Formats: sequence, structure tokens, C-alpha cells
Amino acid sequence: MPIYEYQCKACNTCFEFLVLGNKEPDCCPSCRSKKVSRLMSACGFVSKGKGGETVSKSAGSSCTGCSATSCAGCG
Ligand SMILES: [Zn+2]
Repeated sequence: MPIYEYQCKACNTCFEFLVLGNKEPDCCPSCRSKKVSRLMSACGFVSKGKGGETVSKSAGSSCTGCSATSCAGCG
């Protein structure tokens, strides 16, 4: 199912919208502004960074280089 991300130009709220056919969101779910535009990438990454670094990458739970749960080669 095509779920697109949109961002409101008025309040910068990002929201996802399930697009059925040609139906698009006509207003912001937060402030009702109609100045919404589709994003091509997730904007959640931008707004989450305010805490700085994450405290701990829990060991072995996420390896981006391979699918192993415990990877000494690329950890
Ligand atoms: Zn808005």
C-alpha cells in the first residue's frame, strides 16, 4: 500500500497518509493548513536528533553491515 509522508508548511508537522487512488491529504491533521507537500524521505530522522547521541547501541542487536545478531567483523 502506498503510504506517503507529508509535511505541513505551516507547522512543520510530518504525517503519513495512505494514498488510495489519487486521493491526497487536503489539509494538515494538526493545524488544518492546506499547505502540505509530499516528502520523498522520512522526516522523522530530522526531528529526533535533539537528544544528541544515543546512550548505548545495545550490543549485537543491530549490525548494519550484515544480518547477524552478533558480528565481530563490522561492529
Ligand atoms: Zn500544520
